[in-house]
Amino acid sequence: PSFADLGLAEPLLRALEAANYTAPTPIQARTIPHLLQGRDVLGIAQTGTGKTAAFALPVLQQLSAVKERAQPKSPRALVLAPTRELAVQIAKSFDTYGRGLGLRLGMVIGGLGFGRQIETLQRGVDILVATPGRLIDLMERGNVKLGNVTFLVLDEADRMFDMGFIRDVRRITASVSKQRQTLLFSATMPPDVAKLAAEILKNPERVEI
Ligand code: AMP
Repeated sequence: PSFADLGLAEPLLRALEAANYTAPTPIQARTIPHLLQGRDVLGIAQTGTGKTAAFALPVLQQLSAVKERAQPKSPRALVLAPTRELAVQIAKSFDTYGRGLGLRLGMVIGGLGFGRQIETLQRGVDILVATPGRLIDLMERGNVKLGNVTFLVLDEADRMFDMGFIRDVRRITASVSKQRQTLLFSATMPPDVAKLAAEILKNPERVEI
């Protein structure tokens, strides 16, 4: 199939063309249609398969379809990643694919000062990419509210377990809207991750690459 066959709309198709993506990868072909229909997805895929675009494109399309007149300050989409490096990669992908959509992107990761991240949150973001520890810190300081989050993505969930973030992830998940679409990606599916998936996903489509 082509990206257009998957249901992606014009501004995203143009961004993909500009990025020289000629055709969807298998994980993209198999997840994007379900995500555009509003389904939850459990994706079992390694890095390098194109999983970032598989979740970023449908989130961007659905966020831009609901243009809020009064732009809310608090994020509507939240992507959690286990490491700063992965968070940076994910944010770059959203930036590349979402250029021209007028959505505001923010990133909160450990190892950097709080000042600029707090300023970004105060200006308001539509999409927030975060590592769990820093996000919890900002929640505790009252700098970010997650009640408007209707798209929640957990990327590399198995590594979040390995790195001891799972309590943070559960706290964050409990703070977002119950009316949400949830996407969980993991390279492996050990029992801990399967249990988390069962708790936070509703009737998910399971896609294994
Ligand atoms: P990921 O698995 O998301 O880390 O993506 C791996 C690499 O593949 C990244 O450099 C992406 O820019 C690239 N990529 C993702 N989807 C496509 C596609 N459909 N065509 C060409 N390159 C892609």
